[in-house]
Amino acid sequence: MPSADSRAAIRWVEIAVPSHPEAVEAVSEILDRVGYNGIAVDEPLDGGPHVVKAYVVYDHAARIKVRRVKEAIGRLRAFGLGPVGEVAVRRIADEDWLESWKSQFTPIRIGPFFVRPSWSTARAEGLEIVLDPGMAFGTGLHPTTRQCLEAVGELDVAGRSVLDVGTGSGILAVAAAKRGAARVVAVDVDPLAVRAATENALRNDAGVEVALGSAADVPGAFGVVLANLVADVLVRIAGDLRARLAPGGALVCAGIVREKEELVTRALAGAGLAVRRRDQRDDWVRLDLA
Ligand code: SAH
Repeated sequence: MPSADSRAAIRWVEIAVPSHPEAVEAVSEILDRVGYNGIAVDEPLDGGPHVVKAYVVYDHAARIKVRRVKEAIGRLRAFGLGPVGEVAVRRIADEDWLESWKSQFTPIRIGPFFVRPSWSTARAEGLEIVLDPGMAFGTGLHPTTRQCLEAVGELDVAGRSVLDVGTGSGILAVAAAKRGAARVVAVDVDPLAVRAATENALRNDAGVEVALGSAADVPGAFGVVLANLVADVLVRIAGDLRARLAPGGALVCAGIVREKEELVTRALAGAGLAVRRRDQRDDWVRLDLA
């Protein structure tokens, strides 16, 4: 696969923190801020400490990320929450990173969809989405991705045009195509995501136009706009999202942590959009607007 060659140029740093079960959530939150694709938690069979892991690209920013994690873990220790071990940092080969993610990603049913990793032979009823997340976020495991897949499953997508802003692995764009969207455009500011989404669209025989960029770079208006980003980005590009929405169109915003919901709602209201529906899972909020 071409992606394997292009990935070979990237090196990764693994940050691993052994944590008492009580501290796993707090440690995960810290690592999630720097991890490229979220975090992984290893649960030992012998009842020993869990190990929370994050992967960051080995570049000039890696050192700063490691320092930030160490400082935050230091502060956490001061709270006296269950014991947290030393932060272990090591450079790893690309293949190890991929293997680690593969073990976390299993076939799953979400709404009308059956999401299956490309290396699994599982079969089930439903609109199948075959996925190789590569380096891009969007395995169907993250609560925000699930929330958006459910929205794509419920929305009136057939025959409409769909824009997926921050497509990651392309999972939502492929889902929209499978539900009969007339046209699907997917954009992401991360070239690795553009590559992964392009490959996943091909893998699923889904007609998706994938491009590097964001909502502001796409001409025209769409019947459905999907934006599973983070709160700060949603606030920043609220006007661009509004501009991409056709009259009577639906906008789905997700990736919003509960504490920032008001901030996002206000920015979108400022752009002329009203919340029609709200879904919360764990600490994650999805807003459906029009
Ligand atoms: N849509 C996928 C991935 C969501 S992760 C899913 O639902 O699982 C968010 C993605 O948004 C990342 O791939 C990131 O690179 C991209 N992103 C971040 N800021 C962006 C921006 N301003 N415009 C477009 N994409 C952005």
